[in-house]
Amino acid sequence: MQSAQTMALNELKNIREARNAELERRRAELRGISSEYAAIESGLQRAGNNLLRSVLNGGKDFDRIKDFIQTKQREKTALLRGLDLPADYLDEKYNCEICRDTGFDDEGKKCACLKELTAKFTIVNSNMSEMMKGQTFENFDLSLFSPVPDTSGKAELEIARSAMDKAKNFADNIENGGNVLLKGGIGTGKTYLSSCIANRVLDMGKTVYYETAYKLCELLENIHFEKGDAEYLDHAASVKKYAEDVDLLIIDDLGTEFQTQFTAAALFDLFNTRLMRKKPTVISTNLGLDELNNNYSSRFISRIIGEYTIIPTVSRDLRRKKYE
Ligand SMILES: [Zn+2]
Repeated sequence: MQSAQTMALNELKNIREARNAELERRRAELRGISSEYAAIESGLQRAGNNLLRSVLNGGKDFDRIKDFIQTKQREKTALLRGLDLPADYLDEKYNCEICRDTGFDDEGKKCACLKELTAKFTIVNSNMSEMMKGQTFENFDLSLFSPVPDTSGKAELEIARSAMDKAKNFADNIENGGNVLLKGGIGTGKTYLSSCIANRVLDMGKTVYYETAYKLCELLENIHFEKGDAEYLDHAASVKKYAEDVDLLIIDDLGTEFQTQFTAAALFDLFNTRLMRKKPTVISTNLGLDELNNNYSSRFISRIIGEYTIIPTVSRDLRRKKYE
């Protein structure tokens, strides 16, 4: 997996190459239909070389060569007009005039277009679905939750608001590290809250990687047992590295992976690597603490309890409520 900036620079390179190829195609086309154009082009090329030589030789014949170039350019414009082509038919046209699609301005600073493209690819690298990209704190709909306390004395609305506030606080202070365990039954908004956190952190210009525990474990297993061809394994290794290095890792639905001794150890390693590097992780699970205890090592669980802020989500199926 390439970094977002590498992907952005590659895209700019593709833009430049496509433009050059199109310009070359147009020139060749014109040379084919107009010998006058071919003569102008080679005249301009020679004059360009002469101008450079003149500059190196202290400016001898500089003005004469410049006049010649201007004359040839006027002839070229007239010729294009005669062929009913726009005057800028052979000009280099840039998507970004500031950096001429190189990604860097004249002072060598990153251009705004490079930053924008990098942000776009950071979102691509986040592995979030289109639906998740729209799940934000701003769109969080508290009206889904009942304000009436249940038998335990707590209202859904209260739990949901508290979960949202804690998640928001975590996202806004991502610089300070910390980790979150979102805990609640199926369909209680864990993935939604994960997306809210992810989108907020992406907005800050940080990198995020989202994956389900199921798919992440499959990947870790494939790497470990060398399942797949060389190209796939290369890619898988780079995804694993990204999961270790990314500013925020989100692992959805811990407990739904195919559980083996290997997957439990591999997940523990990943969590531990990130803890040691002080890189924040969000885990969501519908397992209770007892089930977590049964399914994973006590070392694993004590790490989670010690280092993660546990955020309970509303214990009811929100997906069902929509249809009620
Ligand atoms: Zn630019």
